[in-house]
Amino acid sequence: MTIDDLISNLDSKAVGKEIYALIEELFPFCRSITGDGLRKTLRILQKHIPLEMHEIPTGTEVFDWTIPKEWNIRDAWVKNSKGERVIDFRKSNLHVLNYSIPVHKTLSLAGLKDHLYTLSEYPDWIPYKTSYYRENWGFCLSHNLLSSLSDNNYEVMIDSTLTDGHLTYAECLIPGKLKDEILISTHVCHPSLSNDNLSGVCTAAFLAKYLGGQKHRYSYRFLFIPGTIGAITWLYLNQHSVDTIKHGMVLTGLGDSGKITYKKSRQGNAEIDKAAQHVLACNGQGNSVIEFSPYGYDERQYCSPGFDLPIGRFSRTPYGEYPQYHTSADDLDFVQSDFLADSFSTLFNILNILENNGFYVNLYPKCEPQLGKRGLYDEIGPHQLAMLWVLNYSDGKNSLLDISEKSKIEFQSIRAAANILIKFNLLK
Ligand code: ZN
Repeated sequence: MTIDDLISNLDSKAVGKEIYALIEELFPFCRSITGDGLRKTLRILQKHIPLEMHEIPTGTEVFDWTIPKEWNIRDAWVKNSKGERVIDFRKSNLHVLNYSIPVHKTLSLAGLKDHLYTLSEYPDWIPYKTSYYRENWGFCLSHNLLSSLSDNNYEVMIDSTLTDGHLTYAECLIPGKLKDEILISTHVCHPSLSNDNLSGVCTAAFLAKYLGGQKHRYSYRFLFIPGTIGAITWLYLNQHSVDTIKHGMVLTGLGDSGKITYKKSRQGNAEIDKAAQHVLACNGQGNSVIEFSPYGYDERQYCSPGFDLPIGRFSRTPYGEYPQYHTSADDLDFVQSDFLADSFSTLFNILNILENNGFYVNLYPKCEPQLGKRGLYDEIGPHQLAMLWVLNYSDGKNSLLDISEKSKIEFQSIRAAANILIKFNLLK
């Protein structure tokens, strides 16, 4: 099947439900930028798609960064003087400052408070905090729980390890007709949070699953990597072969109820930027396209000036613009299968444009060819205007997508016109 056939046969609502079920399955694991929670997650993805796992040892230098020690955690708690767990890692893995060093001691409430993090604006929610590159320990809890703690001694225990080990990431290559690649990258390092970024991880896995075994022009490379350090590591290890990447997207935050937001690549006018812009404009749902900025997710690394790859970012509500971001409220109720389905089918439509875009040449460029005598009018149907645009602008310098932009005619109509002109030997 081609991607066209796939799109017309796709029951995206059903795919949305499958993506949601995978999010539910992965939600409980305590992931981080290294460690067994991350490995376990990737092994579950491996049941759906062929994944090649990579383990990079602690201490490896990757550009200006160093692979950190590996972090693992079994349990953590704060007990009151009665021996009751008042903060319990088993209830939510967000309770532990991610990457906390092991600790076991007794502290006064005042001493304990130096290591507690809350969110006073949303007193029921637990914030998500990390300390990857500075050794520290701490607990995150709801502000209401903090207010209920009496002035007493507390026993604190974090049963974690921070030792030499590995950074784990995985990639999935789906070969196409060309060696040229479309890169889809998603961060897989957050613990029990749904939208950021299990929605991205699971949508990417299903894109890979549906593309597998189909006919497509491009090869597709999917990266499931810990944020920042994972992208830096991958770029370091693959710096001499990134020329094969022709287009790409970072996927994150795909299951919330907000509109889709596409953030352009640093190039700003790359084919992926035009394709995403076109699809979002055509579906008329008030989706938005924003310019590149050097903050955000792993587009920061792919679009660093030494690489400047044509990679944009595809999200719904941008990170930080919804209060649930990086809190326990980014839970399984916050993402919905219908929004995942919408993200999934929109992504497929963008990929379909990339698959079918191309540069053509009008074989009768001197004045208009006489269309009537070729019987073209019967065939061209609703694409007559599109045909005139294609004939005029197919000079080898304008792609079908460029012509679609110039004419404000949908890409699929431009493409249909081009296919008919090819059939009648007026275009090649
Ligand atoms: Zn995040």
